[in-house]
Amino acid sequence: MGRLDGKVAIITGAGSGQGAMEAELFAREGAMVVATDMNEGHLNPVVDDISRQYPETVIGLKHDVSKEADWQRIVEEALGAFGKIDILINNAGITGMTEFTLNKLTVEEWDKVMNVNALGNFLGMKHTIPAMKRNGQGSVVNISSLTGISGLGGLTAYSASKGAIRTMTKGAARDFGGDHIRVNSIHPGYIETPSTDYLTSNTDIREALIAAVPLKYLGESEDVAYAALFLASDEAKFITGEELIIDGGQTIKE
Ligand code: NAP
Repeated sequence: MGRLDGKVAIITGAGSGQGAMEAELFAREGAMVVATDMNEGHLNPVVDDISRQYPETVIGLKHDVSKEADWQRIVEEALGAFGKIDILINNAGITGMTEFTLNKLTVEEWDKVMNVNALGNFLGMKHTIPAMKRNGQGSVVNISSLTGISGLGGLTAYSASKGAIRTMTKGAARDFGGDHIRVNSIHPGYIETPSTDYLTSNTDIREALIAAVPLKYLGESEDVAYAALFLASDEAKFITGEELIIDGGQTIKE
């Protein structure tokens, strides 16, 4: 018996990194998966691989999370294919330019990052929650970041967008608790995926990052995917508005 038997999950940014791992894990645990990504070149092989292992459990859809019309289409296609929506994993995100302090950040760059990360999360909840309400229950997992709690120099727009996700999560948890819809956020530290290649491919930076982690390694996509699985599942039925840090102990508090 799978931990998500009978559930239908939409996972964004499923063509790469954590989202691809979540799509595979959720299908393995019995969910029907709507895997979406803007980049079909990444998404198609992931969907093909899941289909081979777990036939008829997954569909792949091209999707820009910052576009409201795309969300309307995704929800319609998910309902058409599987009849309901139980789970949303708002995973798609971009880091944006990494070398600029706040005073050098352009409005264009700010808008780009905020539109994918913050607006994308908002639109995802806006368009899936009505289907969850009709379904009588649901679980949303918003992928924020450690930077959404602490901020990070040089990553102003990213930090702001991830902070918006953190507080949006808590507001939505309050708004929709009465509808049996849970909304939680995950805050990863450094996870080895294509989005962190720019850091981890440099040996000195990599060693410095590892040195700051009490567990002495960088996170893997499955470390986040298993947390998303737990929060998405009925095992977490009394958890909402929570922020789960996954960072190998990097920010252990007194
Ligand atoms: P990733 O490997 O870069 O995967 C993200 C996927 O989302 C890519 O396929 C990307 O396509 C796609 N995407 C980008 N813009 C999109 C859009 N507008 N609409 C739909 N899809 C879009 O990233 P990851 O490292 O797995 O990160 C997943 C999430 O975790 C992100 O929200 C990220 O901010 C967050 N996070 C990651 C870390 C980490 O250390 N890796 C730490 C904290 C938080 P392209 O490749 O074409 O851009």
